[in-house]
Amino acid sequence: MKRIFVAIVLFGLSLVPGFAQTSNRLPEYKLQKAELEAHMRFLASDELMGRRTGEPGNLVAARYIAEQFRRYGLDNAPSLHSYMQTVPLEKMGALGKGDLFVGKDILRSGQDWILMSGGSSDIKAPLVYAGFGLENADKGWDDYKGLDVKGKIVLLQSGSPEATAPLEIITASDEKRRIAAEKGAVAVIEIFKAPVPWNFVTKFFGGERVALSPGGTPTTLPHAWVNGQEAKFTKMLRAVDEVRFQTTGRAVQTVNGYNVVSYIEGTDAILKDEYVLLSAHYDHVGVGKQGGQPYTPEDSIFNGARDNAFGTVSLLAAAQALAQHPPKRSVLLVALTGEEVGLLGSKYYASHPLLSLKKCIFNLNTDGAGYNDTSILAVIGLDRTGARAEIETASKAFGLDVVADPAPEQGLFDRSDNVSFAKMGIPAPTITPGFRTFDAELMKNYHQVSDNPETIDFSYLLKFSQAYAYAARLIADRSQAPQWSKGDKYEEAAKALYGR
Ligand SMILES: [Zn+2]
Repeated sequence: MKRIFVAIVLFGLSLVPGFAQTSNRLPEYKLQKAELEAHMRFLASDELMGRRTGEPGNLVAARYIAEQFRRYGLDNAPSLHSYMQTVPLEKMGALGKGDLFVGKDILRSGQDWILMSGGSSDIKAPLVYAGFGLENADKGWDDYKGLDVKGKIVLLQSGSPEATAPLEIITASDEKRRIAAEKGAVAVIEIFKAPVPWNFVTKFFGGERVALSPGGTPTTLPHAWVNGQEAKFTKMLRAVDEVRFQTTGRAVQTVNGYNVVSYIEGTDAILKDEYVLLSAHYDHVGVGKQGGQPYTPEDSIFNGARDNAFGTVSLLAAAQALAQHPPKRSVLLVALTGEEVGLLGSKYYASHPLLSLKKCIFNLNTDGAGYNDTSILAVIGLDRTGARAEIETASKAFGLDVVADPAPEQGLFDRSDNVSFAKMGIPAPTITPGFRTFDAELMKNYHQVSDNPETIDFSYLLKFSQAYAYAARLIADRSQAPQWSKGDKYEEAAKALYGR
């Protein structure tokens, strides 16, 4: 009797339009393979020349994404009048020529040292050693105490008493230059010592570079990194009290990049005040030498089909599906630029958000090196970010299993845009196409000219995109916001952000 009653009630409810809508009537079930394939073939086409940040192909990709948002009927972010968030960038030219004359020795640019910043100059000035070259009253650091460096060249060590990891050492370097300029120094020589091979440093920092524009007047102070792994250079520099710093300088050009942003208002009168942030980077590494990997005259374009046209297509699929049938919470979609050149688009967004980050309950990022198992999708940070159930349900709905954190040795959580949001406290995993290990099969295409759209499994692209869109919906429909797991390294940031 009871059973029959339940059956009657359910039957009755199913006649109420929109109420008992079964999940397979949701728009993500109706996404079209041919449409997603067309996105992929455009975004990863040779004509876009590897979508390198600061280059025309990247801007064409941004325009394409914006016009798809328009076609699918998405709104602008409430505080923007277009789909474009301008990301001011600084494009630095390749290393010029130069020498440091130290006593009787000559240190060659590009070999013994590299110019990190600064225009053409030829300066002969006293050399003053100023430790790490940092000031921080809270921490009791005052490396310039009692020193007058006006008109002088400062000699510094890289890093700080706290900064020992390569990324921290590199980040601290800009601060050192800023302080030295403030003190009236005319150049900086930094003894660069980090657990990174020197040839990697010269390759990565010696070539053309793109960075976020620091704003204001750019400092023209010549700043050298000397190879600190060679003890003899440190000895030479500490033994003299005057140096001649000669360089042809590096050209700096200000250019605009764009994060492409759209917005879907939620349907629940209260929950729509909160939102889920969906993100995928659309930039890649460019063409020829820019790619940093082997290329041939026949194929010199790094198409970035897997990295990350794949994720960008998933983002467009989510835009299409969620706009047709919005979830309870609002959704902000951000196609990010500048990931390959240092997570620039997400860093910029995190410090210039278009909606309050406090209201952002979750970031579902999608990015990938490639895939070698099309029966799964992999999630970086799955068990740290509190939405395993939704991601699993969404994946299973499209016949995919979920693998949590394959290849932990790669430290992938901190290598994609999700980390820019995680640092702010927002639970932020990255959904990536299926792989179980970083094996030869995966590396065959990762950042290689062979990462072409013709080699994409489009049926898998469809399933992956459907799972991504559906997972986003389920998370945006949750009654409670997902939480970091207890003791996670970003839990403190979450407390600060959400005040709980
Ligand atoms: Zn990527």
